[in-house]
Amino acid sequence: MAGMLYLVPTPIGNLGDISIRCRETLEKADFIAAEDTRVTLKLLNHLGIKKPLVSYYEHNKGFKGEKILQRILEGQTCALVSDAGSPAISDPGETLVKQCAQAGIPVCAIPGPCAAITALSVSGQPTGRFCFEGFLSTARKSRREHLQALKSEQRTMIFYEAPHKLAATLADLSEAFGADRPISLCRELTKLHEEVIRTTLGEAVTLYAQQPPKGEFVLVVAGCAPAEKPPVDEADAVRRVEFLMAQGLSRKDAVKQAAQELELPKNVVYDLSLKAADD
Ligand code: SAM
Repeated sequence: MAGMLYLVPTPIGNLGDISIRCRETLEKADFIAAEDTRVTLKLLNHLGIKKPLVSYYEHNKGFKGEKILQRILEGQTCALVSDAGSPAISDPGETLVKQCAQAGIPVCAIPGPCAAITALSVSGQPTGRFCFEGFLSTARKSRREHLQALKSEQRTMIFYEAPHKLAATLADLSEAFGADRPISLCRELTKLHEEVIRTTLGEAVTLYAQQPPKGEFVLVVAGCAPAEKPPVDEADAVRRVEFLMAQGLSRKDAVKQAAQELELPKNVVYDLSLKAADD
């Protein structure tokens, strides 16, 4: 019988955030697949857990994934962890989950720390509708295309970024979305120097031109405000009613049709057409 793959989230800073269930799963697993075995070893030592570790990261996931799959198919239980946060979210793991799903292996995701959700919760930006954009490409062209495609995105957007690329990313975001767009820079979440800066893209560019960014960042950017409806063009409405009446429609039917076409309230169009007729 096939074993199981557990996705085990680990703290993004504060070791106290490891849950009882995550701890038990790490204890019970036959082996742990880790992004960086040295990082995970520190966590296991802290928890007092001894367990066989295998490495599974971006550049070995092809052949290591096959080996892990084989062990699970033989009946073993694997706990997958990344350096921090939820495995498979901008982390190696996505491919392993897909391979397990294709092979009919059960996958269990344990809820827990995730930098994106922690940042969104504390950002002060609207949380009702949001999209996760992960890391932007380092290639300038595809990065710009990506941001252009997000220009009229109305949902709150979440980006991951490394500190040494932050200044360039803020400049690109400001250029694409405008300097007035609100942003929350969520830094070093759950750590000693946790900080949330709620500002605008323009001000964030200025701030990090003066002080080099330090630590880990999640950027939570407000969505584009819904386009305001253009003001009622009275002349257009009157002209349209008069045209339709000249085609043989009654005033009532002409008003109804014009109001529908111009997406205006019928009573407004009716009043405008009567006023124009009186003048
Ligand atoms: N899978 C992880 C998750 O979803 O929590 C994210 C892994 S991704 C490789 C690493 C990125 O997550 C960092 O570059 C940063 O953008 C963000 N991050 C991780 N820990 C953070 C923290 N404590 N504070 C702010 N951002 C953090």
